[in-house]
Amino acid sequence: MAKVIYGGQSYECGEHSVLDCLTAQGVVVPSSCRSGICQTCLMRAVKGEVPERAQEGLKPTLAAQNYFLACSCFPQSDIEVVLPEAGLNRLAASVASVEYLNADILGIRLHPSRPLEYKAGQFINLFKDKATARSYSLASLPALDEPLFLNVRKVPGGLVSNWLFENLKAGDELEISEATGDCFYVPGNAGQNILLIATGTGLAPLYGIVRDALMNGHQGRLSLYHGSYDIGGFYLVDELKELVRLHDNFSYVPCVSEGAAPKGYVQGMVLDAALNDYPDLSGWRVFLCGNPNMVHAAKKQTFFAGASMREIFADPF
Ligand SMILES: Cc1cc2nc3c(=O)[nH]c(=O)nc-3n(C[C@H](O)[C@H](O)[C@H](O)COP(=O)(O)OP(=O)(O)OC[C@H]3O[C@@H](n4cnc5c(N)ncnc54)[C@H](O)[C@@H]3O)c2cc1C
Repeated sequence: MAKVIYGGQSYECGEHSVLDCLTAQGVVVPSSCRSGICQTCLMRAVKGEVPERAQEGLKPTLAAQNYFLACSCFPQSDIEVVLPEAGLNRLAASVASVEYLNADILGIRLHPSRPLEYKAGQFINLFKDKATARSYSLASLPALDEPLFLNVRKVPGGLVSNWLFENLKAGDELEISEATGDCFYVPGNAGQNILLIATGTGLAPLYGIVRDALMNGHQGRLSLYHGSYDIGGFYLVDELKELVRLHDNFSYVPCVSEGAAPKGYVQGMVLDAALNDYPDLSGWRVFLCGNPNMVHAAKKQTFFAGASMREIFADPF
């Protein structure tokens, strides 16, 4: 008889779902439709096997992290589960280097004190002190880059970003959280076309995702659009141009929204430029990161252009 382990307690599950088993024991698991549609009862398995049916309808990035729907999970063997927000441990990290990527963006490289499991494009929380943290996306790849690589924009009046700009130096120690988030590349379907749209430091996760896809031998088109008000807002330009030179299926389009665009740059809004080039996104995978207004508009417009909601991954910040 399979057991469900939650919060250090073990419960006989019998023929019941994980949701029914836990709620019968007084554990509060948010739920609504109880039929695998609304996804309110999302949980994550930290040990044991998740039955396939319990992941039906979930985004592949969530399924890859062992998330499942408690209402449709009927375990065949013992399974240890947590609620989604649980289980992000903190760890120490030392600063390997700090450099300006442009006037307003800092590139921070960190050595975690123990190996960190993550996927390029996920984010960590970086702590200024015990109680103050901000999320930063991972531009690095576990398989290629040894230190973690973050891109931090200086937000006018921003507490943590300004503290990082003014104080951080190589050799400093700070605290970070484990990585989380569902904006990352899942191998498989190597021929699928992928559209990636970023503004500002929204490039950080997408730079990681593009390199992850290329490293995994992705064959479909990988089209990256990066938007900035002016030419000074771009960064990692040489690195991205080198990737274009090396990979026929990768393209990089920097878009300037205000004022004239020099040769090699597109004048206009990044979302318009992308949809102008690719008006039909049926069957495409889409990644959207950066300015919340852009990301929310892009979610709608890429969906109306044919991309399935399950294939649209977004981090607005
Ligand atoms: C999933 C996720 C991933 C993220 N990844 C990155 C990343 O890779 N790089 C990065 O630079 N940031 C990233 N962010 C944003 C980051 O977590 C902070 O919000 C940002 O650095 C501002 O923090 P702060 O302490 O400097 O500003 P705060 O002290 O929090 O804010 C100061 C003031 O600035 C305003 N403000 C806050 N954020 C912004 C903003 N983005 N634009 C304009 N005004 C703002 C606030 O409303 C407030 O008035 C991410 C956020 C999320 C949720």
